[in-house]
Parts: sequence; structure tokens; C-alpha cells
Amino acid sequence: MAALAPKAPAAVADTVAGGGVAPGRVNLLDFDLEGLAAFCEGLGEKRFRAVQLFRWIHQKGAADFAQMSDLARSLRDKLAGKAAVQGLQIISEQASADGTIKWLFDVGAGDAVEAVFIPEADRGTLCVSSQAGCAVGCRFCSTGHQGFSRNLSTGEILAQLWHAEHHLRQRLKLAPGERAIDNVVMMGMGEPLQNYGALVPALRVMLDDHGYGLSRRRVTVSTSGVVPMMDRLREDCPVALAVSLHAPDDALRDQLVPLNRKYPLAELMAACERYLQAAPRDFITFEYCMLDGANDSPEQARALVRLVNGQAGAPAVPCKLNLIPFNPFPASGLLRSPAERVSAFAQVLLNAGIVTTVRRTRGDDIAAACGQLAGEVQDRTRAHQRLTRPPIRIEAVPTAREGGRPQGRRAG
Ligand code: SF4
Repeated sequence: MAALAPKAPAAVADTVAGGGVAPGRVNLLDFDLEGLAAFCEGLGEKRFRAVQLFRWIHQKGAADFAQMSDLARSLRDKLAGKAAVQGLQIISEQASADGTIKWLFDVGAGDAVEAVFIPEADRGTLCVSSQAGCAVGCRFCSTGHQGFSRNLSTGEILAQLWHAEHHLRQRLKLAPGERAIDNVVMMGMGEPLQNYGALVPALRVMLDDHGYGLSRRRVTVSTSGVVPMMDRLREDCPVALAVSLHAPDDALRDQLVPLNRKYPLAELMAACERYLQAAPRDFITFEYCMLDGANDSPEQARALVRLVNGQAGAPAVPCKLNLIPFNPFPASGLLRSPAERVSAFAQVLLNAGIVTTVRRTRGDDIAAACGQLAGEVQDRTRAHQRLTRPPIRIEAVPTAREGGRPQGRRAG
């Protein structure tokens, strides 16, 4: 691990404590192109000026209006008085031996969030946070154990990408026109679909040809299963969808992913099937964290096959299974499945014709691997006390159809 010295954002215009913009000014990172066009119209400017401004910000990483040489002087003066391009203050940057880089960003009031860059041979992926903490409280997740402080704004979500892309272009000495990040996964801290209003404009900027120009297949929202918002995302901005599944039946998933009590598997799988009608990929990626003695038996693999094939009372869902080696932390009371058990589990899925991958752990020397992101969160939910467990195994209990799940537990 190489800990690098904290750095200031590339450029800072009239900052206040915590990285926000000065009172009376607007952070232009908060706008998608439509929002920026409306803002420019409010300044008496034509739409094409918004396009120019948008390209300066997102394609060139500019924060200083004086740099924006093809904008009229009068517009630059107006912008300097009313707006700023305000990134996030960086608390730390850590680089893993495998090339993974993790940034800890200050979002004010004692909260900090993390973003992780994962270089691979054929692409660069950025894992982005959507909330300071998370209210869902998944049992195996460090973020969930920290509790929830607040939603990030659109600008705070985009500032992670804005910083990472333009910092990496310089660091990697990329040629003009080359991009560092061509794949974004909303899999950092937070449940993105519980911050929907800020998420969707951020996704639009990622996809916009005048912004980052990413393919819809290369932008993935990962959800623990917020069913109504999955339906809205399908209508508003259908990017690739990953669903944190982690269990083949409601009784176990209730324990691992508490949101399951509100949106049980039958509803979740039906929402996945609906989503695929608009999705840029013809499958859903199901994430399945491998937990020793909890969800990793061959019988549970067979139950998972029945679930995704529509033989368990829920619709069939074309899918890919991504098995994730658990990164243990003491408060979870859970352990990583042995490699041979992961292999046996994967083999059951593969034998059933399901595309299955085992995620390679990246950045675990800097606590940047999946489920390890923990930032700093002023918990307003007392989640840490609720979720801390003694180090025991979860015993799978019978499914609803076997009489194990209490009925009528929809409110959650
Ligand atoms: S896995 Fe995702 S939804 Fe669950 S607690 Fe962690 S961040 Fe929240």
C-alpha cells in the first residue's frame, strides 16, 4: 500500500468549509445538460453556450471560468459572480499494489465518502458512492454497519468521477481524447436508488456525449432491491442493473438484506423481469457475497438455480451470477467461504447453464475491496449498535413455502 499525500481539488473557486460553494453561488456540477441550459437561459444565454460550458467542465475538467477561452467574456464574468465548479476536498488517496486507487472525499459535517478506481487490461472502472453511509444495513457490509448520515447531491456524486477522470488522465499521461474511466459502477457507499433524485441527473451526465459519453452498458446501478425505484429507473434512465441478491430464499435474505422484508424475492424478481424490457443488457447481474456456512451450500446453489429459472414462485430472470468472496470484518460475525466451497457453488450454477463469475478481489490491501468501503459517517441511525453481532454463523431457515417466513411482513 502506498499512502499518498492529501491533495487539493484541481481548482477551487470560493470554497467554504466542507467543500461546498460560497453562499449565493451555484455548483455547476449539480446540473445535467438540461439543468445547465436552464441555468444559462436564466443568465440570458443561449443553449449552445451551456453545451460549451458543459464540455469544458466534464470533458476538459476545467473549474476556472477564465480558462474557458471560447466563452464570451461577458458570460465568464456572469458565471464568476453566480457559479462555481466545485469538486470535493480530498482527505486521502491510497494506491494498492495491484493499481487500485481509493480516494476519501470530505463531504462536510464530519462525513466522508470513498471512490475506488480499478484498472483492468481492457478498461478502467470507477466505483462511486451515492450516500454518506447507508440506511439499508446489510449484515455483510461495512458501510451498512456505519449507519446513515445523508444523501449526496448530484454534484457530490459527479465530483468523484470528475476528479478521478481528470486526475488519472494527467497521472497516466493519457493522450488527448483518451479517457481513463470507461466504466462506472454505482457500488460504493450507499443505496443509489434511495437517492434517486440526485442519482438520475448524475447518470445523465455520465451518458451524455457532451459529458463523459459512457455507454449505457458501461454504467451500472447496483441496488439491494428498491422495487418501485427499479421501475422508475427503467423509465427514466435504463442503465445496466446489478442486484445484491446474496440469498436464494426470503428467510435468509431477510437476515442478510433487511430491505427484503419490504420487497421480498417474488417482487424483486418480477421487477428484474420488468427492468429487462428496457435494459441495455439482456440480463441482470446478481451479486452474491459468499458467506461461510450461511449461504454457500450446494443445496442453496440449487435453490438459487430454481429461483432465477422461475421454479420458486417468482418469474425467471435472464442473469449472470457474480460470486463475491466476502471481506470479513469483526462486527459482521461472518466469515469468508473457503475457496473450494465457492468453486463447488459456482459449479452447480454453471452446470445449470447460468453464466457465473467469481469476483477477483482488488485493492484489499487498502480496504478498497467490495463491501469494505467505510468512509467516515456521522451515524443518525444507530446502525452500528443494531448490526454488531457476536461471531456466529447464520443458520439458513426454511422458506415461506416451507412455513418458515412469517406472512404479511411487507412494511419495513
Ligand atoms: S450492501 Fe449496499 S445497500 Fe447494503 S448496506 Fe451496503 S451499501 Fe447499503
